[in-house]
Amino acid sequence: MIKRSEYNKLQQLAGEMMIEAGIVLREDEIERIAIADFGLSDIYNEGGQILTFFETARIGTKVIALLPNQTLPEHWHPPVGNDPGKEEIIRAISGEVRFYIPGKGEIKKGFIPNGKTDCYTMRNEVIIKPGEQIILPPGTKHWFQAGKEGAVMYSFSTCVRDGLDGFTDPKIVRETKIVEDK
Ligand code: ZN
Repeated sequence: MIKRSEYNKLQQLAGEMMIEAGIVLREDEIERIAIADFGLSDIYNEGGQILTFFETARIGTKVIALLPNQTLPEHWHPPVGNDPGKEEIIRAISGEVRFYIPGKGEIKKGFIPNGKTDCYTMRNEVIIKPGEQIILPPGTKHWFQAGKEGAVMYSFSTCVRDGLDGFTDPKIVRETKIVEDK
């Protein structure tokens, strides 16, 4: 849950970060940036600011802005019918992005949000910097976190079905609830 004023403020901030990173945006797109708190009501620690450029039945492109040290919760894109699930490529545009994926590595530069060890099971750290990218095959568990300056990245993917994503944290609700300021 997030207050309307906070939601609007974060849309502006994320829009500025995207433009600063060199992405060309229309004015009306800033108002379309989704502030995702994943129902955790702790947006500065866990969440993300996401602008969907387009989504067709087969392909989608988004830009994601993460605030300094903000963490996008661990999730995976499960198979649906005959489809093996969403394949996703994240390409960093500005700032450092710390990725956590299956493998033997350990967390070195990043951190698990306070008190949430059980909700973040991937510990293999891969850092991507502007111009670098990571390919996440369908079903791969992943979470990611911006460095201390925040980060902006592209997300290219096959068919988007965000509502069906799996999350490690049982408290997560994909829809952000906005409450009006009193
Ligand atoms: Zn994902």
